[in-house]
Amino acid sequence: RVMNHSLENIRAEFPVLAQNIKNAKPFAFLDSTATTQKPMTVIQVMHDFYTKHYSSVKRGVYQSSEKTTQAFEKARKEIASFINATSENEIVFTSGTTASINLVAWSYGRKFLQPGDEILISALEHHANIVPWQLIAEEKGALLRVIPVDDQANLVLEKIPELLTEKTKIVAITHISNVTGTVNPIKEIIQTVRNFSKNAKILIDAAQSIAHQKIDVQELDCDFLAFSGHKMYGPTGIGVLFGKYELLESMPPLFGGGEMIKSVSFEKTTFAAPPARFEAGTPPIAEVIGLGEAVKWLKEIGLDNIHRKESGILEYAISQFSEIPEIHILGNPKERGALLSITLEGIHAHDAAMILDEENIAVRSGHHCAEPVMKRFNIPATLRFSFGVYSEKWEIDRALIALKRVIRLFK
Ligand code: PLP
Repeated sequence: RVMNHSLENIRAEFPVLAQNIKNAKPFAFLDSTATTQKPMTVIQVMHDFYTKHYSSVKRGVYQSSEKTTQAFEKARKEIASFINATSENEIVFTSGTTASINLVAWSYGRKFLQPGDEILISALEHHANIVPWQLIAEEKGALLRVIPVDDQANLVLEKIPELLTEKTKIVAITHISNVTGTVNPIKEIIQTVRNFSKNAKILIDAAQSIAHQKIDVQELDCDFLAFSGHKMYGPTGIGVLFGKYELLESMPPLFGGGEMIKSVSFEKTTFAAPPARFEAGTPPIAEVIGLGEAVKWLKEIGLDNIHRKESGILEYAISQFSEIPEIHILGNPKERGALLSITLEGIHAHDAAMILDEENIAVRSGHHCAEPVMKRFNIPATLRFSFGVYSEKWEIDRALIALKRVIRLFK
């Protein structure tokens, strides 16, 4: 296990980045916003679990099951400390950000929303933080309101007080936009919501921030925080919903089944306390253990170091792309996360992405599960470049050469 990580050589910890060579060209992976690659330690821990210790959790008194239960719960503690939750009981395992947001919508929303209540989201949301609210709003007769975004891709914060009423029950905002990279000032937004609305509960979609900057849920004072393992160097199929304990306690279960009950009879079933109440059925055990390892790994490297490295790459990409007149960078937010979207004059993003793929450069093209953002900026799609701790300048250089080729080809 690597203990002394060097940021310069961190790429060596990622097997995929070393192996994926096409036409003798190394893999330029510029799609970490979609998902991150996995360091060897995460792969190894999951491999060890399946090959050496595999058994179920919380269901056996035999030794390997007890050991598995301990490793599983240790991961929960690791994650709680990573976001400074007051207790590991505030950490609910889900299958990802989408499931975490849906859990709040279908449990908290279904119990507490009344006809005429309001849900406030922003114009920069991923579909995962729009559609669940639309569905529950329709079922409950609630209204969806939207904080607008300006031409630079900053949310129009001055509008927030006007959009809050005593009927606002839920405010759900992304920390970092997966399209424009806008880092929303969530601390300021949360304070504004607290000042103008007594009833609103606040959910932060941290899918795009959790692996890039330190998040302290107590300092932020958010009620819920949702994120995915696969975007933070961990496995797919696992995510987290953080919720303040008294809120989780007030919420009914969404799924019924094994391990979420206190007692079951045909007359009356009572439910376990959170987080077990929301974790019906056999959980993704290896994935939880893998996520625990990813969090340990992130802590060892340090989010401040990661942020510094990624900011350097981002600045370099912006300076290089800005020199090409045919490249338009979408938005100019006050603070930008480790990603940027561009459009190319007269060239569709998919065409460009295919040419980049010929050069073994992985980027994302399309609407990025955020169609309202495309509509707001009046574009069909963008080409998105996104970075992780392993990103290097040569990847930007290669992308730039390929983009110049695209421009020559399609002009
Ligand atoms: N929210 C944001 C801002 C995202 O970027 C994503 C994924 O791209 C999601 C939510 C959904 O995450 P998942 O697909 O892991 O549930």
